[in-house]
Formats: sequence, structure tokens, C-alpha cells
Amino acid sequence: MTTIKKGYIEVYEILIANKDKKIKSILDQLIPIFESKQRDKNHFEDDDGLHVFCYYHKVWELTSQVEYGKKVNTATGLNSMCKVGTNQWTKQQREFKRDKAELLTLVANGELAIENINSKIEELEEVKDSIVPLFEHHHNEALQDPRQLEIDE
Ligand SMILES: [Zn+2]
Repeated sequence: MTTIKKGYIEVYEILIANKDKKIKSILDQLIPIFESKQRDKNHFEDDDGLHVFCYYHKVWELTSQVEYGKKVNTATGLNSMCKVGTNQWTKQQREFKRDKAELLTLVANGELAIENINSKIEELEEVKDSIVPLFEHHHNEALQDPRQLEIDE
């Protein structure tokens, strides 16, 4: 008898029970399982309180230590990013838009060669997608996650 990994049992059973059917016909059964699994991974509670995997910082944050804004219709009732992360994310998106729009002006003024515009956009995208870490204890060693980035000193 094969041993099925814990998180896959439900999916495995549906697949076995429907092995001769077309995927399309069982998709409606499978999607909610995957979706709830995905959602579960972004928050959990333990003795310390509620932890959220911050969408901006890409680390687990304890909501009693890191401030979160409220958001209706979410599993936690909180935003998917902490307040600082939300502000930083919004700022980076705004600056990216602004800087990207300025590139054409630079080209028009002869300050940027048209053939360099793509590499310039790549540079701007890197800045946009970069993460400004919050503070040191933000990086929770005990809750290492594959998505958690190595934060340089
Ligand atoms: Zn955060």
C-alpha cells in the first residue's frame, strides 16, 4: 500500500474515484481544495497569536507585533500585507509608473538612447519588485518558509 502525503489525501481519493473520467468533469471538485490549501498557508494561529504571511515582505508576521489594516471578506479579516508593507508597495508601484513615463521624455530630450529603453525598464522593474525589510525581528527564524527571502544585514 502506497503512503499518501498528508495534504494530498483528499485530492488523491477524488482522482482515484474518478480515474476514468475527464479532468474537466471533476475540476469543480478539485479547485476548492487547492484554493483552501493555498489560503491556509497564508495565515495560522498558535499560542503567540495570529501569524500572516505578508504579501509584501514575504515573511511570516505576528499580527500582535506588526500592524495590519482591516479588510472585509478575507479569511483573517485583515489585509494581506502589513501597513508598512502596503505603504511601501503602493509607493514602489507609483514610482515605477512615474519613472517609466519619464523614460520617453528622456529619449525625446536625447538623454536616453531608444535602444537602451528596455534595459532601463528592467532596472525600474527590479526596484519596483524589491523588498524593503521592516525591522530585524520581522525575520522569524523559527518559521522559515521557502518563500521567505534571505534578508541581508
Ligand atoms: Zn509586512
